[in-house]
Amino acid sequence: MRILVTGGAGYIASHTAVSLLDRGHQPVLLDNFCNSKPAVLDRIEALTRQRPTLLKMDVRDTDAVARALREHDCQAVIHFAALKAVGESVEKPLAYYENNIQGTLSLLAAMRSSGVKTLVFSSSATVYSADQPMPLREDGLLGTSSPYGRTKLMVENILADVAAADKTLSFTSLRYFNPVGAHPSGTMGEDPRGIPNNLMPFVAQVAVGRLPRLRVFGNDYPTVDGTGMRDYIHVCDLAEGHVSALNHAHGRAGWHVFNLGTGQGTSVMQVLQAFSLACGRELPYEVVPRRSGDVAACWADPHHAESTLGWRASRTLEMMCADAWRWQSANPMGYPD
Ligand code: NAD
Ligand code: UDP
Repeated sequence: MRILVTGGAGYIASHTAVSLLDRGHQPVLLDNFCNSKPAVLDRIEALTRQRPTLLKMDVRDTDAVARALREHDCQAVIHFAALKAVGESVEKPLAYYENNIQGTLSLLAAMRSSGVKTLVFSSSATVYSADQPMPLREDGLLGTSSPYGRTKLMVENILADVAAADKTLSFTSLRYFNPVGAHPSGTMGEDPRGIPNNLMPFVAQVAVGRLPRLRVFGNDYPTVDGTGMRDYIHVCDLAEGHVSALNHAHGRAGWHVFNLGTGQGTSVMQVLQAFSLACGRELPYEVVPRRSGDVAACWADPHHAESTLGWRASRTLEMMCADAWRWQSANPMGYPD
């Protein structure tokens, strides 16, 4: 299959591109590089011995995207392109609504004008309401507290409405839990701009000496050790989940929603300990007050993806940390400019 991958140079998309190439698909990557670098293409080529097309393009440019879909004869789209920082979305809500909502509307218009009917969308566990028991099932209560989360929920609603109105469309939403880790080669990984907001890249930068210590946001939660618990999933498991979702979606019309998680909660201290083992030294930390907006615990019920897609996450926390450390230590400043 030839697949347009929006946000194709980003963290999850680049790993997905490798999985798609490994399975004989042909991804066409599209990115405006607002949060990534073109250098990732060399790494994809080194791993797969194939160099996919990489288009410098904004997903909001409907005509250019429609042209790309036609010229590359794409049969499906995976839509990763979005802004994703929760805190920044509170500061700059319009930028988030414009990029994430307008970007999706533009993409849908381009798909309609070029006759592409299959779409896989990057959603997030943040669409679930915090007030419910774990694990989270796809039919759980929805509700989200940040502008970023609202863009994901709004796009899900838009996609569900559009798929309901046109029975020839196949739209899939993948609700990711906490993607972490890197390609096991250590040549591809997460390369956040500035100080990382997320736990694993922050810990990785402490390990490599770019940051002095981890600040643990609260140790008085009702969890195993008082620190927040999340469902960390290896980015390569997540990437493979996209290939399974695409295989399921193609030719199967309707609106499909899947959690992509492991089904296991892990605490901040457990992550820190596993990363210390991976990098071979105790990592410094201090406990500070809770981060506003954080929930105590969040993990997936992954059974729907298992039974319907035949996909399940297989990589352990140790592998997530070992691979993240291999990437971070070999590329302490991330990808070259
Ligand atoms: P990322 O920032 O590495 O990738 C997103 C890519 O989209 C970047 O390369 C960026 O340059 C590009 N982009 C953004 N706006 C664009 C536009 N208008 N036109 C073209 N390209 C554009 O982020 P990621 O972690 O790989 O996330 C990918 C997707 O998964 C996003 O939609 C994100 O919201 C979602 N998601 C991520 C996480 C996570 O923790 N990483 C969790 C849940 C969901
Ligand atoms: N966390 C932390 N220090 C950090 C970043 C994160 O203690 O510098 C904690 C955070 O409070 C949460 C967990 O790590 O309990 C995962 O946070 P992350 O931002 O990676 O994911 P999210 O909260 O969005 O699920």
